[in-house]
Amino acid sequence: KRMELFQAARLETVSHLAAAVNHEVKNPLTTARGMVQLLKYDQTMPQEKRDLLFQLALDEIDRVDRVVTDYLTFARPYPNQMEKMDIEVSIKEAVSIMEPYANQYNVQISNHHSSCQCYVLGEPAKMVQALGNILKNSIEAIPNGGDITIKTDLKDRECHIRILDNGIGMSREVLERLGEPYFTMTGNGTGLGMMVVYRIIESMNGKIKIHSSPGKGTEVILSLPAILG
Ligand code: ADP
Ligand code: MG
Repeated sequence: KRMELFQAARLETVSHLAAAVNHEVKNPLTTARGMVQLLKYDQTMPQEKRDLLFQLALDEIDRVDRVVTDYLTFARPYPNQMEKMDIEVSIKEAVSIMEPYANQYNVQISNHHSSCQCYVLGEPAKMVQALGNILKNSIEAIPNGGDITIKTDLKDRECHIRILDNGIGMSREVLERLGEPYFTMTGNGTGLGMMVVYRIIESMNGKIKIHSSPGKGTEVILSLPAILG
């Protein structure tokens, strides 16, 4: 069964972004700080409890690290100048950044670029962040090795970027919640990756369409207004 998700339903999540950053970064830092402080001042604490507190503090710090990766590995939090950019350059950069991660999962990423150059208006760093977050999800959806294919083409004055994977796919329930803050199905996911993708693509006046079949794979299509010439 093939299912689709359109962008409109996700626009509401955009306003949650600032709150999410605050919550997702400050809370774990506050918790980790509290634990380190306790370790410092409670000298009578048994070793077993110390070990546990150290581990919990490390877990919180790792969580902040993952959140920051989803938000701003490449992109800055504040709007920069939009510029005319070549989509292909961002795709190549995102692929090269994600390649080591793909290798760990035995995933092959192939990029079939279009014959014509696709120029859009946007911030290259943010585009790389969005593509990176999508690729990361595709890689994580392929536990036993597989393929990711990226195809770009220009049609009806729009650049279409399609990212296909032959991973586990998504049920209708998962697809419907995709992009919702904190929605995650993976053990140590942040549930923020797709929300960031929606926000970035929306800021470029683009659209996102997703097809997914459980057990077969997923196709994410980004459509962005093209700049001619
Ligand atoms: P996270 O990756 O931190 O869980 P995301 O917002 O990036 O958060 O993704 C939310 C969930 O959507 C994932 O946990 C996963 O279950 C599902 N998902 C996203 N992309 C894919 C994909 N390409 N294939 C299968 N499931 C996916
Ligand atoms: Mg993700």
